Amino acid sequence: MSDYIVRATAKQAQIRAFAITSKELVETARQKHNTSPVVTAALGRLLSAGAMMGSMLKADTDILTLQLKGDGPMHGLTVTADAKARVKGYADVPDVLLPPNAKGKLDVGGAIGNGILSVIKDMGLKEPYCGQTVLQTGEIAEDLTYYFATSEQVPSSVGLGVLMNKDNTVRQAGGFIVQLMPFAEEETIEQLEQNLSRVSSVTAMLEEGKTPEGILEVLFEGMDLEIVDTMPASFYCNCSKERVEKAIISVGKKEITEMIREEKPIEVNCHFCNTAYTFTPQELKELLKKCTK
Ligand SMILES: [Zn+2]
Repeated sequence: MSDYIVRATAKQAQIRAFAITSKELVETARQKHNTSPVVTAALGRLLSAGAMMGSMLKADTDILTLQLKGDGPMHGLTVTADAKARVKGYADVPDVLLPPNAKGKLDVGGAIGNGILSVIKDMGLKEPYCGQTVLQTGEIAEDLTYYFATSEQVPSSVGLGVLMNKDNTVRQAGGFIVQLMPFAEEETIEQLEQNLSRVSSVTAMLEEGKTPEGILEVLFEGMDLEIVDTMPASFYCNCSKERVEKAIISVGKKEITEMIREEKPIEVNCHFCNTAYTFTPQELKELLKKCTK
């Protein structure tokens, strides 16, 4: 089964909701970056949230970036998503190993540590929108819940989960985002809180075989759930040799001349998907001609 997002409303549109199954895209990220289990969990949670938040973007050309920077051993996580729920991302340190946390789970919060969550939305305007909040737990779902409440003033509930197989491949991944509209009634809020308090974790629901639709049915039991639409989600990077060439040209004549002097091919890796691009000294000489600085 491929990854997809379900968008829905409940209680006559007083609530909007998103749910995703993202096992394939998280496993793709794991393979590309060869991440350790705790980093797979962290990156997988942020990729899952990024895909859902990407699907909230209005225009096809809008780009969302989620970035966590912390004082933990993973240093940082970056995820970029478009309106078609195509996501890519990376961890600054992909091979962090940590003992399990007090609950016996992968210590995502410990890997990130104390720090900042930045949400950047590039909607083709002069200045991109940028919201920043202090990390609450570093477990990502709580941090996004806090971001939505304080930075966007939208009371939300975010659930994210990644479960690993014994061989450290991805067994389950997914999540949900539930948001209250400004006109939500007190009774609706109370019922939602009750429902949320009854749900087990996202990974437990996925392990029971629940689809994103099934997860939303649990969250909105007795609350007039209406599925709006579904859309595929995927790991996708738009890098190319041409784009990397432009990046090399931008570093300037001096650096490129030094690379040529080494007389051996250089390799440039895309941060987001880890694809390696090789440039021979001859190719570098061609790029040098295109340099203006
Ligand atoms: Zn790439």
